[in-house]
Amino acid sequence: MIVCKFGGSSVADASQIKKVKAILDSDPRRTVAVVSAPGKRNKEDEKITDMLYKCNSLVQKGQSCKSVFMEIGKRFMSIAEELGLDKAAVSDKLDEIRYQLDGGRGADFAASRGEYLSAWLISQYLGWEFVDSADVIVINADSTVNEATYQRVAERLAGGGRYVIPGFYGETEQGVLKTFTRGGSDITGAIVARAIGAELYENWTDVSGIYRADPRVVSDAEVIPEISYKQVRELSDVGASVFHEEAIAPVYASGIPINVKNTNKPEDPGTMIVPESSTVGAVGVSVRTSLSRLKVRKLMLFRKHGMRHALLTMLHVFGIRPCYSLYGIDSIVWYYESRMASESVTAAMCERLRKEFELDECAADHGHAMLGIVGNDMDLEGGPCVKAIQALGRAGIDVTSVNAGASDTSILLGIWEKDAKQALKVVYEALFGSDK
Ligand code: ASP
Repeated sequence: MIVCKFGGSSVADASQIKKVKAILDSDPRRTVAVVSAPGKRNKEDEKITDMLYKCNSLVQKGQSCKSVFMEIGKRFMSIAEELGLDKAAVSDKLDEIRYQLDGGRGADFAASRGEYLSAWLISQYLGWEFVDSADVIVINADSTVNEATYQRVAERLAGGGRYVIPGFYGETEQGVLKTFTRGGSDITGAIVARAIGAELYENWTDVSGIYRADPRVVSDAEVIPEISYKQVRELSDVGASVFHEEAIAPVYASGIPINVKNTNKPEDPGTMIVPESSTVGAVGVSVRTSLSRLKVRKLMLFRKHGMRHALLTMLHVFGIRPCYSLYGIDSIVWYYESRMASESVTAAMCERLRKEFELDECAADHGHAMLGIVGNDMDLEGGPCVKAIQALGRAGIDVTSVNAGASDTSILLGIWEKDAKQALKVVYEALFGSDK
């Protein structure tokens, strides 16, 4: 059995949904489809999910969501019409949703209705059975999947039929509707794949796989043929956004491979995400921007037991959750997303830290980025780390920190945000270019 997840662009309109049907019909092993809400049809377009969130905020403010909801309705009605489906039934469902939205069922409920309607419409079109995620996917308070889910899904899909399931949402144990984080339909697909012991999880999107570097910056970037679970997570962490990093966890234990494929070019092989990859050297590079850097220094900083923990706790109090850290003999450098704290919050925090911990230095600065190189055997002699630093040096790009060795699948190089695009091009060329 193959579980296929189709993202927002793959179900954005009727012509895309026809491609979905052709893909599903072309392999009888494809018995379960997990679908997103209709996404953007073009650059200027709006995602149904975003419109539903908008509806909910209007209702919460005591305003009418009529005009936004009408646009949502139009999109679903035109899909139904073009696919030759019963428009009256869709209209009834829309009325019911509007009624519930107006009743103030909240953001998660509102957002989930895009996937719900999308899956229901597609099930009608394919003639497959609709299974509501609210009945089978149990989500914990911290947005992780509850273990009971796997058995529920397995039992519900045991009939040997073909099923369409909405992505992105489920219910808490208390029966309250809850969504995963944005882009969470990838997680639903992975859960279903594990629950039914699928041989493969296909993730259908609008690109032909995961690229070695962002193709908007490196126009001739190649697609990665094979990458491991761990490497995908590392690549997502430094800003690559093709596959939801949390979607690895459900398939991790069972080792089900994931194939990222293009709905518009189904013949392309795409990227295989596998438990372990034997590729030698670097597989991809990405840059995460909009970072700030906090530096703290004190003579014998680490002499006092628990100091690092105490400092971190204080950072959390001010809303800062660092994403990367570096330790010196008397100093620590933390990188965090700049949006986490304004200049004034950072200043207040530094003042408090300085006083409370008698620091010699506490200062934050902004405009940083982290370039991550992901692969295998990154510590090879003359390997990716050396090549990348040399190439950056030749291009006159400063490296402000080096974090290598903590993970055997990645190397992190701190750079200035202003150099991010150029650095990506230079490192791509050095690692994957024609004269590498
Ligand atoms: N529709 C949801 C979102 O836009 C979930 C998804 O597409 O995976 O985030």
